[in-house]
Amino acid sequence: MGERQPVSCAVGAALQAHARAVAAEGIVQVGGTFTCVPDADTFVRTRPEAFLVGVLFTQGIPAERAWAGPWLLAQRLGHFDLVRLAAEREAVASAVAARPALHRFVRTVPRWVSSAAARVLEQYDGDAGSIWRDGSRVAEVAERLRAFDGIGEKKAAMATEILVRHLGKHLVGLEDGCVAYDVHVRRVFLRAGLASEDSLEAVREAARRICPEDPGSLDLATWLIGREHCRPSNPRCDICPLGRACPRLTHLRPDGVGTRRQDRS
Ligand code: SF4
Repeated sequence: MGERQPVSCAVGAALQAHARAVAAEGIVQVGGTFTCVPDADTFVRTRPEAFLVGVLFTQGIPAERAWAGPWLLAQRLGHFDLVRLAAEREAVASAVAARPALHRFVRTVPRWVSSAAARVLEQYDGDAGSIWRDGSRVAEVAERLRAFDGIGEKKAAMATEILVRHLGKHLVGLEDGCVAYDVHVRRVFLRAGLASEDSLEAVREAARRICPEDPGSLDLATWLIGREHCRPSNPRCDICPLGRACPRLTHLRPDGVGTRRQDRS
């Protein structure tokens, strides 16, 4: 970017206060849910392997559609059995690609699903929940998630945050968590003057400075502001939760937007 901005304590405090409010309201994606479909929501909340597949689906499509993916896939296949997901790769690919397609990446995502099923069977004895078993450190869980095809830094950060904040998993070492380096998060951190440049390091450093004991707790609130208020064009500063604390650097935008396939939508 080349343009360095001063970091305001007031805007960091405003973001932290909004994060607390979002957490208190129990907001996940769509109000208190992951999707607009109650059965799909229950599926990702109660089946660890479905949650894992939901993380894989969270890529370049609206979050609500992504989290509905595992349940819709189970409907089409007639099962959500890890052994069959791993072995019957063509069936998984056909189910994802059948119209209306469950995902825009109809070749990559099914491959990740089958690969993840195989890894859970081999490494976790078929129990995806043991990836994030209670008492695990946040950094440890993120590392285990990153070992799956299709999960990088950003998705691992998002997933650990959801596990702690919304699924009540008892992970420790919250100070090692972080906001996901997502396009909405990046836009807010830049425009609010929280990060001096658009880089993973700058965003992480800013999140740790604002909330050293639990930087990942800023993730969802920031993402929601980016999606609903700090839009790429016509940002809604007048009703934004960061309000007057924000320097409103609305001319700034993340580098390479539209080229990073890891972004949530
Ligand atoms: S919408 Fe405006 S006030 Fe809100 S974060 Fe973006 S630039 Fe700041």
